[in-house]
Amino acid sequence: MSLMQLTAVELGKKIKEGEVPVVEATEAALNAIEAKEDKINSFVTVDREGALKQAEEVQKKIDAGELTSPLAGVPVAVKDNMCTEGLLTTCSSKILGNFVPTFTSEAVLNLKKAGAVILGKTNMDEFAMGSTTETSAFGETKNPWNTEHVPGGSSGGSCAAVAAGECFYALGSDTGGSIRQPSSFCGVTGIKPTYGTVSRYGLIAYGSSLDQIGPVAKDVTDCATILETIASHDIKDSTSVERDDTDFTSALVDDVKGMKIGIPKDYFGEGLDPEVKDAVLAAAKKLEEKGAIVEEFELSLVEYAIPAYYVIACAEASSNLERFDGVKYGYRTKEYEGLHNMYKKTRSEGFGAEVKRRIMLGSFVLSSGYYDAYYLKALRTKALIKKAFDKAFEKYDMILGPAAPTTAPKLGESLSDPIKMYLGDIYTISVNLAGLPGISVPCGVDSKGLPIGLQLIGDCFQEKKIIQAAYAYEQTRELVFSPLLAE
Ligand code: GLN
Repeated sequence: MSLMQLTAVELGKKIKEGEVPVVEATEAALNAIEAKEDKINSFVTVDREGALKQAEEVQKKIDAGELTSPLAGVPVAVKDNMCTEGLLTTCSSKILGNFVPTFTSEAVLNLKKAGAVILGKTNMDEFAMGSTTETSAFGETKNPWNTEHVPGGSSGGSCAAVAAGECFYALGSDTGGSIRQPSSFCGVTGIKPTYGTVSRYGLIAYGSSLDQIGPVAKDVTDCATILETIASHDIKDSTSVERDDTDFTSALVDDVKGMKIGIPKDYFGEGLDPEVKDAVLAAAKKLEEKGAIVEEFELSLVEYAIPAYYVIACAEASSNLERFDGVKYGYRTKEYEGLHNMYKKTRSEGFGAEVKRRIMLGSFVLSSGYYDAYYLKALRTKALIKKAFDKAFEKYDMILGPAAPTTAPKLGESLSDPIKMYLGDIYTISVNLAGLPGISVPCGVDSKGLPIGLQLIGDCFQEKKIIQAAYAYEQTRELVFSPLLAE
């Protein structure tokens, strides 16, 4: 078995026991990246030199007994929208194509304190806007299960890198599904935590009221361990929550007896691929056999989540992306006449089509005359969606459904019809609108051999419940990895 097939926690143990030196694990990952990147393109930046230097430093600290985290010495890949001091951070956009931050995002800093080795930065949809990782200015990422298909998005680079065995785990960000959907498409596990659990300091903002950083890994144990490491209260993020229940690994218990699981009927209607439906319902059956109480119910308002999300996310994006004007950061157009012309040309040349579409849409819904009709209405809808979840969680410990309506589409199929692509976010975005935690775990493959993801949604701050159920479900099946992982 190659080193790259180990989970992060398994590797961490071997490092601690002195069985695998950190430099060897780092070299294994760097070599895997070198061998597979031509096929996958999951990285924007690979920091070979920096990673090997970190590996040596971390090894010394482990030897001295200064680093005891289960992740000490384990190489990780970070989505390219999290700032890393001295390391290019592009958001997969031309406009940040030369941006080297002077500071490191809090989540990454927490990993570094635990002794993580940063291998590099992963590809994504430009500014995290998309569901396929095809809108990157640095070329699309491909799905390691079948390179004719997309890896999902926007954290497609992170999920593909884990699935291909180019790193031991990765960080992604999730504004409307960007951890859970590509995890589902790539057959890996990902968690979107409760809003406020992981600091957004240093995460380049897309929709600030929705964005959360979370782990992507081979299994639930890894995800719980990573989340425990990156979660922190941070005064630099005004929406950061002080929690004393972030010992997520305590929930790795194989027991779902008496847990009440609700299945929204509204999630299993039109548009859901029958193979995805069967796999997800089979997973629900497994949990029932283990003693969970599984029941169907009506969640309601599901059809309003997509319009509300795209109004709110675009409104926030149009404001967040104002700062990229050629003055303070990144790219500036070569020739211009005066300040306004410089702004205009820089932004026209620096942003891709999807980002421009969303800035325009966002500016429109915030403009006077349309603000009440669109933006305020979307905020009211968001509040109603939260209420519908609150009602569901009075009765259920968690909600079970698919992570996405289909398996990974072919490359080139999605961008021509953006509305259709937006509709693919149906099962993930309401979780962000309500600030809830959600996990995607692999639950099978379809007849094309592409992975299917099961999503468990918890009430705010109830990560432990969904981690426990996901862990219990995981015990009922073998972990299956992409053919590329074994290479
Ligand atoms: N696909 C959604 C969007 O494009 C979600 C993206 C995300 O979670 N970053 O907005």
